[in-house]
Amino acid sequence: MSRFSLRPNLPAYVPGEHVEGDGYIRLNTNESPFSPSPGVAAAVAREAGRLNDYNDPDCTALRAAIAGLHGLAADQVTVGNGSDEVLYFAFMAFADAAHPILLPDITYGYYDLFAAAQGIPLCRAPLRADFTLDPADYVRAGKTVLFPNPNAPTGLALSAAQIEEIVRGNPQNVVIVDEAYIDFGGESCLPLIARYDNLLIVRTFSKSRSLAGARLGYGMGQASLIADVETVRNAVNLYSVNRMTQAAGVAAIEEDDYYRENCRKIIAARAYTTDMLRAHGFDVIDSLGNFVFARPRAMSAAHLTRELAARGILVRHWEKARIGDYLRITVGSMQQMQALDAAIEMIFGRA
Ligand code: PMP
Repeated sequence: MSRFSLRPNLPAYVPGEHVEGDGYIRLNTNESPFSPSPGVAAAVAREAGRLNDYNDPDCTALRAAIAGLHGLAADQVTVGNGSDEVLYFAFMAFADAAHPILLPDITYGYYDLFAAAQGIPLCRAPLRADFTLDPADYVRAGKTVLFPNPNAPTGLALSAAQIEEIVRGNPQNVVIVDEAYIDFGGESCLPLIARYDNLLIVRTFSKSRSLAGARLGYGMGQASLIADVETVRNAVNLYSVNRMTQAAGVAAIEEDDYYRENCRKIIAARAYTTDMLRAHGFDVIDSLGNFVFARPRAMSAAHLTRELAARGILVRHWEKARIGDYLRITVGSMQQMQALDAAIEMIFGRA
């Protein structure tokens, strides 16, 4: 740090370990094991030759495509450089030092950093002992409300009716529902947008649509709410969705069937993984995400993470209160999950 830093106390995000290349089976960052659809590569190649031109700051074609996919108008959609950026802009739009955010005690870790960077206080509602979220904790919150549905890293989800209870119970505050993992089986609260002006839904192309490296996320809500997020986007980073990514997003939506089929494969591999881990004696939470949250019985989660890494398989472990005994394991292809099975067999066989 230099002598000049005014932000010495910002915490550092620790992402899942990043390794390039094919040497590892990466089950630690909830990416898709499947390549983007063929039209994506062609669209990116077309745009690559036009990088001398600025990209469309309004992301007109992309927003129209997303709106069309969900039966919304284009002014009900905002986009960003990953859903992380959409969330960050939403924090800037709807929270500040005097307007805290209420969120679960166990949830996506980056929220803490967005809040720290903006000086936004966080209030945490503890999940129940079984990691389920009690909607009653969020009714009449008197704060901006935020939670992922399904939650990460647990994979547990609320129904749209439970979310409606929360949205209806906070008429004076924005409720942000992060649906990063909704395509893997949870019930979206999208239909609520028509009836509630305080609901912002955030989604990503990083998981079900195989575009983690392109960085593309979006927010949906009534036009008035989206306009507030757009005001921040305009002020902070208007060109953040580059032209290759805009085109990739449009192409991915045109090939929606491919991604739906991939989601079906992930859901099948998730069922296999859940059963396989239970057969190895893990406690496994029934997940609605593209990952499972599981507690090994035969050895500590930290030790197993190291043993798996030594065999080329990366999984996620947090040395944190309440979840230190658990691993979050991304559901990849069947082949990858069978390799995980074989590795656990060897490790436990030797333990
Ligand atoms: N929300 C949740 C709950 C996540 O787990 C993640 C990624 N790990 C994100 C948002 C951010 O995804 P991205 O910025 O790639 O869209």
